[in-house]
Amino acid sequence: MKLEAVEFNNTPQSLRNFQSVFDSMVPGDHEQVVYCYDKVTGLKAIIAIHNTVLGPALGGTRIWNYAHDRDALIDVLRLSKGMTYKAALANLKLGGGKAVIVGDVHQIKTEALLRRYGQFVDTLHGRYITGPDVNTNMHDMVVIARETQYVQSLPGAQGGNDDPSPFTAYGTYLGIKAAVKKVYGTDHLQGKKIGVEGVGKVGAYLVAHLCKEEAQVYVTDVVPERLSAIARAHRVYIVQPDTFYDVPMDVYAPCALGATINDATIARLHCKIVAGAANNQLEEEQRHSRVLFDQGIVYVPDFLINAGGLINIHTDLYHTYSRELAYQHTEAIYDTCLGVLNRSEKEKIPPLVVAEQLAEERICSVQSALRRA
Ligand code: NAD
Repeated sequence: MKLEAVEFNNTPQSLRNFQSVFDSMVPGDHEQVVYCYDKVTGLKAIIAIHNTVLGPALGGTRIWNYAHDRDALIDVLRLSKGMTYKAALANLKLGGGKAVIVGDVHQIKTEALLRRYGQFVDTLHGRYITGPDVNTNMHDMVVIARETQYVQSLPGAQGGNDDPSPFTAYGTYLGIKAAVKKVYGTDHLQGKKIGVEGVGKVGAYLVAHLCKEEAQVYVTDVVPERLSAIARAHRVYIVQPDTFYDVPMDVYAPCALGATINDATIARLHCKIVAGAANNQLEEEQRHSRVLFDQGIVYVPDFLINAGGLINIHTDLYHTYSRELAYQHTEAIYDTCLGVLNRSEKEKIPPLVVAEQLAEERICSVQSALRRA
């Protein structure tokens, strides 16, 4: 619940004040919004296609019990735009899209509803490709795939590219190394104090990479069993969530919920780098990225560092897939991070602004080249 409430606060005013559905598409310059309704299954879904200049719009399907349809629309518009930036910056032949299904996941998630939803996805003929997100998983994708081929992240046993988390974690690990290189002149992590907040799917894989390099890893989680499991597998220091931000560290790696970087936490943070996998880490994107920059804390934009899972999907879509190849492609995140941080330093603007500029530059140059052709 908290995540969503915070995410809406994070939404620019221009997007919250719209008067008509078309007005809502203007601030983000969205291409298409599709409303899906089915009386029999109770399906209410919105698919937002933000931008398809670089390729088909790809993004997961989230199920959430939004208080108002308007909140669902705001969420899907914001998330789909984020996917455009993520794909553009990772140099992928993909655009940005996202979908939300409105309702209580425990009541509405049935085979019938997911298949009906799959039929709607199919009507877009590949302009939108879906995958898992909050409250949907690989098994739900199998059900949706009974109605459409435009689904990703199916289980490996069924010929899919499986759980994206190891690739997201690997990219995050490389992004951390790039930031460490920028700040300390070498990307060796041995002895570096790194705090991983949230040891779920991505966080646990990330800890394994960091421990292999003999970093001093501090972990926290709200689920005690996850902490004991990670402590059994690796040499880590466990910190309780309420004191985590007070621990002096070189790198703070948020891998739990969004909006953990806000006025209250920035005042407590003792770190040189913020680099983690969580989506929407900054409570107020532009302002908090500026505050971090002014305080000399290097922030690696979330949509840049956490693109490994998307790169894995892209590898499956456009290459003869192997996990090795997907890991190889994910390695590009290191150079992209370093490039963004170098330009940030040179132009004296926050890395978030640089990352957004780079994404927009790529989309604009491809768009004008295609227009000329
Ligand atoms: P997950 O649900 O498996 O793990 C999240 C972990 O954070 C859980 O262990 C949870 O208990 C913990 N947590 C929740 N609230 C916390 C708090 N206040 N303090 C400390 N720990 C807390 O999710 P995941 O798939 O590992 O994803 C982690 C983050 O990365 C999310 O923000 C997700 O959106 C983002 N992300 C994930 C992927 C992916 O491939 N899974 C890709 C891109 C971005």
